[in-house]
Amino acid sequence: MMFRLAKKKWMRSLYWTIVLVFLVSLLTAFIYYFVLIDELEIKPKTIVNSDNLEKQINYRLSGLELGLKQNRDLLKSIRFKLDRVFKDINGNLNKDNEDSDPSDYIRDQSICAKSSPQKEFKPNISMPDVYEELKFDNPDGGVWKQGWDLIVNETLFSKGHKLKVFVVPHSHNDPGWIKTFDRYFREQTKHILDNIVTKLSEDPKLRFIWAETSYLSAWWETVKDPKMKTQMKALVDSGRLEIVTGGWVMNDEANVHYFAMITQMVEGHEWLMDHLGVKPKYGWAIDPFGLSPTMAYILKGMGFEGMVIQRVHYAIKKYLASKQELEFRWRQYWEHKADSDIVCHIEPFYSYDVPHTCGPDPKVCCQFDFKRLPPSKVYLLIPIQSNPFGLSPTMAYILKGMGFEGMVIQRVHYAIKKYLASKQELEFRWRQYWEHKADSDIVCHIEPFYSYDVPHTCGPDPKVCCQFDFKRLPPSKVKCPWKASPHKITDSNVHQRSLLLLDQYRKKSMLYKTKSLLIPLGDDFRFDKLEEWDAQTENYQKLFDYINARPEWNVEIKFSTLGEYFESFKGIHSFPTLSGDFFTYSDRDDHYWSGYYTSKPFFKRFERILESHVRSTEIIFSMASILNPHSLDRLNALMPLFVYARQNLALFQHHDGITGTAKDIVVNDYANRMYRSLENLEKISSQSIMNLLHYENIESNQLKLVDKLPNSFSTSTKSLFIIDDNNNQNWHFVIYNSLGFASYELVCIHLQPMVNNWCIKDNDGVEVEDIQMNRVWSMDKLLTDRVEACFVVHMKALSLAEYSVGICDEKRGVHKKSAVTLYNFGQSFNNLSEDLVSFDETPTEIQLDNENIGLTFSGADGMLRKLSIRDVTTNLRMKFMTYGTRSGKKVQKSGAYIFLPDNENAQDLVYSNCKIRITKGNIVTRFETIIEKPIPIRHQISIIKGKRYIEMENEFFLSQSSFGNKELMIRFYSDIQNDDIFYTDLNGFQMIKRKRYNKIPLQGNIYPMPTTVYIEDTKQRLSVLSGQPLGATSPRSGWVDIFLDRRLLQDDQRGLNQGVVDNRKTKEIFKILLESTSSEPTAPTQPLKPSLEAQIELQKILSPPILMYSTMKSTISEIYFLHNPLPCNIHLLNMRRSSKANTYSLYLHRWGVGCDAKCAANSTVVLSQLFSPFITKSLEPQITRMSLSSLHEKESDLSIDSQLNVEEMHINVYRLRTRGV
Ligand SMILES: [Zn+2]
Repeated sequence: MMFRLAKKKWMRSLYWTIVLVFLVSLLTAFIYYFVLIDELEIKPKTIVNSDNLEKQINYRLSGLELGLKQNRDLLKSIRFKLDRVFKDINGNLNKDNEDSDPSDYIRDQSICAKSSPQKEFKPNISMPDVYEELKFDNPDGGVWKQGWDLIVNETLFSKGHKLKVFVVPHSHNDPGWIKTFDRYFREQTKHILDNIVTKLSEDPKLRFIWAETSYLSAWWETVKDPKMKTQMKALVDSGRLEIVTGGWVMNDEANVHYFAMITQMVEGHEWLMDHLGVKPKYGWAIDPFGLSPTMAYILKGMGFEGMVIQRVHYAIKKYLASKQELEFRWRQYWEHKADSDIVCHIEPFYSYDVPHTCGPDPKVCCQFDFKRLPPSKVYLLIPIQSNPFGLSPTMAYILKGMGFEGMVIQRVHYAIKKYLASKQELEFRWRQYWEHKADSDIVCHIEPFYSYDVPHTCGPDPKVCCQFDFKRLPPSKVKCPWKASPHKITDSNVHQRSLLLLDQYRKKSMLYKTKSLLIPLGDDFRFDKLEEWDAQTENYQKLFDYINARPEWNVEIKFSTLGEYFESFKGIHSFPTLSGDFFTYSDRDDHYWSGYYTSKPFFKRFERILESHVRSTEIIFSMASILNPHSLDRLNALMPLFVYARQNLALFQHHDGITGTAKDIVVNDYANRMYRSLENLEKISSQSIMNLLHYENIESNQLKLVDKLPNSFSTSTKSLFIIDDNNNQNWHFVIYNSLGFASYELVCIHLQPMVNNWCIKDNDGVEVEDIQMNRVWSMDKLLTDRVEACFVVHMKALSLAEYSVGICDEKRGVHKKSAVTLYNFGQSFNNLSEDLVSFDETPTEIQLDNENIGLTFSGADGMLRKLSIRDVTTNLRMKFMTYGTRSGKKVQKSGAYIFLPDNENAQDLVYSNCKIRITKGNIVTRFETIIEKPIPIRHQISIIKGKRYIEMENEFFLSQSSFGNKELMIRFYSDIQNDDIFYTDLNGFQMIKRKRYNKIPLQGNIYPMPTTVYIEDTKQRLSVLSGQPLGATSPRSGWVDIFLDRRLLQDDQRGLNQGVVDNRKTKEIFKILLESTSSEPTAPTQPLKPSLEAQIELQKILSPPILMYSTMKSTISEIYFLHNPLPCNIHLLNMRRSSKANTYSLYLHRWGVGCDAKCAANSTVVLSQLFSPFITKSLEPQITRMSLSSLHEKESDLSIDSQLNVEEMHINVYRLRTRGV
């Protein structure tokens, strides 16, 4: 406080000096520059004496001459600015945002518990009610195994009420799964897109839908013939090729955080707008393994009108189908108006492939998948070349020359094969036509039949041969597994085949209320070959023509897009409303897809790190672009690097990316892309920060991240800063807080040499007094080359501040070493030094505390026993546990997707002689438990001065073969009487209430925990916040289970064809809060949410301060971009520079307030008051509220002076433009 007063006094004297300088007309330029500094809220580097001031003025002057030339036109505004300077000096000083620490807004009182969805706006269908009602008993439904025997009510259809059938051709293209993105593209998707353009251009009746923009973009970049692009655009313009969803990928909905969900959609939509000028209207999520209402909210917010989903628990499908409620308006449970409802359609049957989309009987539907027709010569593609074979004699020559004695070939024109076969001449000596001796002849064998696959190699009858291809045993998709194959549609069978198909259509239509019927026609990577196009389109067109020609059948049928389907009943039907989500998915029996919530957690953590860097770089890059219009060329040159990083963050949101369900080689490809993306982001952040802080020689220098970039083997390591005697120079750090609120944060850096007289100075040049020096360890090994210095920094909202580190004179600043106590570390540490004591025997109980928190640990297992946070205490015990999987041959087991435990009860992880290390200091105290067997684990609980949570870090490596087919889990036992209720989040965007049911097996009671889980009773709430998405449940009252990692030796029969054994050394981070709850229930209109403190702490896990370093000093030591803090429950989600010049999207999200928060529920934001004046001055006054992906304008008559109101729980996007330079 004292310091701040002194600073203001100084600032005042500086202002007057500047005015004087102005009056003597010495330096117009100086004034301009001064104003610029003032408005940026920049503080010059050094203070306070007048000598320094004079030096500073001279220094700045010399730098200004150049700037003056560039900025002559801006000088006009100087007088206006000067006026403002006077105003500020006369007592109207800018409100300093220094005091905006969010803890000011947290009341010292209980948080509200037992909040429940509001009643006044109750939906027609509430998923929690459906769960109550369902038996989950899975009776056999006949041909529709998971349904019932459908009977068609013929009277429903008449001349005026025809059944309108919309057959929608599609191809599901995973951006990485069995093959990498690039390989899929090269081998399959490129051809599919080529074929779409060719075939749709040929036949005006054809339609197609396409979902994944990542592949469209790859196609656009590689296609050589510009005519193809023109044709593609024409098809999109005409609506015949419809882009559905249009995200970069079809994202997972369990593990994905809403920031990344929006990012991946924006990447897709921006590309579509820039290249095809199209705005998608309908969503298509047929493959994500469970569906989240957050996605519905985001689609609606992006201007979508309808959506299709597919992977919903079979029992829920059946329930909704029985009430004709598979189409509904999906509503957020906390929403009190219909505005955010979106029409949602659930596909009723097992899968999105052809056998499960035409009607209830897959045996029948499969016969109308004409890709599965037995091949005939019509579909042969081998062109006749100038030589009689599709193969070159040059190859024969080369082989012979290499000493080969024979060769086998296959792709030869069928007529030639037939001719040679008729003469038994399929084996011959292949000779060069110009050869006049037999020396170069090579024996050649031609395979006689259509293909080299099993059906065409055993003999002439592929039907027979195929029966001996045992790979095609179910569930292979290659042919119809129901022993009835498709028939080519001919004049003689068209009548019978039409009736067979129509019966299925009519039955499916019985499940929906409208007379419109959606029939997806496609599968994974379909339509890659022209013969499939011909087979599907010709046979279906024959059926359509025949059916449409019979008015007495009361059916209209055609190829169509998804949009045509939704528009057919727009405004005619009103659907029931539904609230809730569709987790946890089961496709059959007790096979619940809850394994992928945790599979490959190393990469799940990696993703969150990348995500945090994308967000922070977006914001700082925008700030640099807005504030340094004269450096725009240099910043623009970084744009391709940035786009790469955004697109690869987007790519990993794919439902086989972050889910951990891709093959190892694909996972490595994703990891490489993420690593390169981080390198790019480091470069972009560095350039942005150097521009903003006016570093010298920006081109030739780069700031580096203190936390080294994660790579495939490590998600976090610290850089080591060495100061040797020869170069006693300082290191300079920039601390970047990307969040819209201020906070005190712990910062720890690794230094060499091992001395205690380090000096750390803040941006005012003031020495940090309180520094804790720690020893550094790697598991149980002491690293003797470094010390760790930990100190607390105060970060202003959205700010940059420079710190420096060096060695002081011996007589000054000797900092306190932390005291280390070791148990079970062996003799080598005995009597090492005063502040390191080692014991062979562990006490029964170990207690640690600080001013807020008390911890009691058991010495026996090194785990927590009791936790007190302020006045709340619970017997909080933690324990590592494991699950196995089922045993026996032909028994479905756990795999990448599915969790099938061997037992409802988890087993304790048995270990003995764990090492315990306690590091006690004045700022941070750590309790570490090191387990060696059966797997290496380091478990750390920390408490930090001033904080009201405990930090938990778990580092482990499940590489041991003894840990095969096991899941590692941590269980929390508490006194909280939550019964069977617990709460998890959806995509970090909202909380949802969960209930554990005995009628559902253990694996079905596990839910995604993208960020948060809590349990509560009328006294307390225990929250666990996570730095990585995982699976969680509450298996009994008072318990919370969090799954940490899994190692599985086998495939789980969902197409991946491998287990999960590429485990990495993984570090997972958590914060644990224990809060008292108010016994008074919250007003029923309140959405469920974590306390304000938990929300703030979660943001700090997900967007931690970014530390960058260099040996150079900046010219400006601090900038803060916010003039006033944001309302305490509004989160600065993003500030993204768009692909269009000078355009930015500002994303604000209002979390909402609980009764623990003092912030006003309805506070508004005025941008001209929020941002620093210089930012405001750089912006066009007019702003526009946009849809979430900025495709549509929502409110255009806004200005930077408007009171912007973000409603509780909502995200608003504002388009800002900078003034022309
Ligand atoms: Zn897929």
